[in-house]
Amino acid sequence: MPRTSERESLKQARTAVTSVERVILKISREVWNQPAIGLQEREAMEVHIRELETAGFTIVSRHSGGHPTAFVAEWSQGSAGPKLGFLPEYDALPGLGNAAEPLIKPAENGRTDGHGCGHNCLGAGCTGAAIALQAMMRQRKVVGTLRVYGCGAEENVGAKIFLAKAGWFDDLDAALAWHPAAVPVTGTFVTNANHFMRVSWQGRTAHAGMDPWSGRSALDAAELFAHGVNLMREHIEPTARLHYIYEIAGVAPNVVPDEARIWIQARDITTPRVNALTDWLSELAQGAALGTQTKATFQVELGMAEFIPNETLAERVFEHLQHTPLAWTAEEQAFARACQKAIGAKEVGLATQVAPKIKDATLGASTDVADVSWNTPVAVFGWPTYPPGVNLHTWAVTACGGTSIGDKGSLAAAAILAAVGYELLTEPELRTEANAELKRRLDGRKYQAVQNMDLGELEEVSTRCQKGMGDEYVSDATVG
Ligand SMILES: [Zn+2]
Repeated sequence: MPRTSERESLKQARTAVTSVERVILKISREVWNQPAIGLQEREAMEVHIRELETAGFTIVSRHSGGHPTAFVAEWSQGSAGPKLGFLPEYDALPGLGNAAEPLIKPAENGRTDGHGCGHNCLGAGCTGAAIALQAMMRQRKVVGTLRVYGCGAEENVGAKIFLAKAGWFDDLDAALAWHPAAVPVTGTFVTNANHFMRVSWQGRTAHAGMDPWSGRSALDAAELFAHGVNLMREHIEPTARLHYIYEIAGVAPNVVPDEARIWIQARDITTPRVNALTDWLSELAQGAALGTQTKATFQVELGMAEFIPNETLAERVFEHLQHTPLAWTAEEQAFARACQKAIGAKEVGLATQVAPKIKDATLGASTDVADVSWNTPVAVFGWPTYPPGVNLHTWAVTACGGTSIGDKGSLAAAAILAAVGYELLTEPELRTEANAELKRRLDGRKYQAVQNMDLGELEEVSTRCQKGMGDEYVSDATVG
């Protein structure tokens, strides 16, 4: 049993969420029914924009920070007061389209993309929380500003990096986020910093049989580079991660390839460590070019910072998790067990308990929520929209997210977010403490966005993702 009693703000937030329940569920279902991958998810974005405008929010920016599926919506009461940010996501994943049934079955509308990361639930919960909190503020005449950031393309070209680079989080007092999970969970954890690099080599084509001596193979350079990456592994920190794919590797064996390209990611627990890996990789690319008499081009396209946790906010969220009911019907439990059976997991059904608070854990993954966390304290947690044993980025998450299981997740998360939001607006000491903690953790370090992509490159990534070549291009991570 929780050590604290339920706060009044959570009860009021639950009532406010009930008053806008129809809107929240409409967002979730509409986005679920129109799944599209990052940068192509305009319909889903418009669903959020429509509901925010209907509620009285103003769309103050579209295409924010140059990102095609980002937007910023705002609503204020009074001319001063704190500013809070909400972070809805709405992109789907390729190949994970599924019916809302506990087995692999194509979606009825034939869409092959699907919400295998539960972003339909995530987005509905975040936008719904902002609308519910707006109602609470109106009723109790609380001053402040609510800003909803449309965080497009979280799975491939995360909008939060673009928004952070453009300074959209600079004046916030705090930001609030959640992610679908198997169990209710929060705490202090760190996600990895991460760089996405494209390395290409230009060689000279030739007939591979008649005069191979006239050619210089770009593929040779790529192979040499890849071999070097694998030798690096012995001499890098155990926390580091390097993963790559060959994107271009020639067209026919009898033509010396004049072009080759590798797409590589480097991750580690801090940005300086990732910078060091990046420098080494850049030298390796040049070395491979020298050895093969080709020309290398090395570009860091995009990067994510490491997440800066906030214990002050995590404590408060943890309290609310413990007072939020986890009530499932027999049908929902049967659905969950059928999903577990289908994937070969233990048939234990849906979570009925909050997970112990995470204390300073490092997750191997990365998230663009981290780029927000350098600029303002972030409260973040996971809440179930699928059962334990099922993993994110699978058809079963898509399936559950299209049922009342996902709906309950959106509603519970919205209430928790609205409660913490209300507390941040009305408890100056909570804001002060959370911001002092952020300052302490940063210890003078300044945020630097890593974003060097132009629109053409963005579009290319989107096309590539559609082909299923990069369903985890940027952020395979989840928070919580
Ligand atoms: Zn996700």
